[in-house]
Amino acid sequence: MVILNVIKMITRRKFIQKAGLGAASLPLISSTHPLFTPTVIPPDIPLLRVAIMGLGSYANRVARAMETCSRAKITGLVSGTPSKIKDWQKRYGIPEKNCYHYNNLEEIESNPDIDAVYIITPNGLHCEHTLKVAGAGKHVICEKPMAINALEGKQMVDACEAAGVQLLIGYRMHFEPKTLEAINLRQSGILGKIMFFQGLSGFKIGNPNQWRLNLNLSGGGAMMDIGIYSVNGARYMVGEDPIWVSAQQTKTNPSKFKDGIDETIQFQMGFPSGAVASCLSTYNMNYLDRFFLNGSKGFIEMQPSTGYGPIQGKSHLGPLSGPVVNHQTVQMDAMAGILLYKEQAPVAVDGKEGLKDMKIIDAIYQACRSGNKIYLPKL
Ligand code: NAD
Repeated sequence: MVILNVIKMITRRKFIQKAGLGAASLPLISSTHPLFTPTVIPPDIPLLRVAIMGLGSYANRVARAMETCSRAKITGLVSGTPSKIKDWQKRYGIPEKNCYHYNNLEEIESNPDIDAVYIITPNGLHCEHTLKVAGAGKHVICEKPMAINALEGKQMVDACEAAGVQLLIGYRMHFEPKTLEAINLRQSGILGKIMFFQGLSGFKIGNPNQWRLNLNLSGGGAMMDIGIYSVNGARYMVGEDPIWVSAQQTKTNPSKFKDGIDETIQFQMGFPSGAVASCLSTYNMNYLDRFFLNGSKGFIEMQPSTGYGPIQGKSHLGPLSGPVVNHQTVQMDAMAGILLYKEQAPVAVDGKEGLKDMKIIDAIYQACRSGNKIYLPKL
């Protein structure tokens, strides 16, 4: 509990310092829940101005959530479909001069109305798009998985560093109150020694012709899309990075899940403390959105654990009580603080964090192919 309050207090204090506000000009803070204090920002503080790139299904969800952001707003659009641009322009009042096509994106460099581009295109385009946005001198927010492998992920981190822009990955759970409450409980020591994590991530995928089942655009199957939640979740729930992985693949429908597109993978991870994780990633089962963390003195279980919510969970002490929030609203407000005011994320969301997951996923695929336990270098 303490950590989230502390995070909020530090975040708020830093924001006020960066914004140059004195105590006398502090806005009123409304407290609706002891764990989560919404920050009320005065209207004259600069907002993060975001161009959304790729106007598909998740972009729509993010845009709707951003309507209630207090620190970020949509000021630009990037799309290959003129009709979508027109609809979005109307909806969000975006002027023509802030609208781009994928092939004139470099012109965004001279646009003072845009601080960051949020890349919400298929996975296989994230690297190419990040390199272009970084080359144009804008901050990058890129959806998960950051890329289709660690090689690309590293290229993205390097390109952003070289361009002097920040790279953030759309890990919305890293700002979700019940998730932070669970992390806080583990950090408090109340669970004792952490021994075991179980992550179940999956859904039954429909249309066989979608980009998620096309290797060039997806980079893989369920593991890239949904299994990554168990990979990433294991790390923030256990509080360590794995040192080895093993994995086994099952494929019941090879005509739908072609070569390189994983249908179901069971994987195991070992951590430096001796804790182990056992996880399932699948495109062939519904109702799989569950985390379980076991310690020598207690446990936490969450279900749903990473869906859009509301997230629910309990520990051996009772229910998790963090408030229900819109994940993307909270994420974008927090990312505004990170990009504009150098605030710290409660759990890292930078490119290096994304790269760790790519290295683990590479190793999981290698373990599936070889049947061997794969030892990871320090992530
Ligand atoms: P989508 O298919 O609904 O949208 C993709 C968009 O990219 C479309 O507007 C499409 O026109 C555009 N696009 C550009 N070039 C394309 C090409 N060559 N082929 C296909 N589409 C192309 O997909 P989505 O569900 O919005 O997913 C987009 C990204 O967002 C993925 O990386 C996905 O993993 C991520 N995502 C994240 C979350 C989350 O909770 N963080 C949820 C859903 C999706």
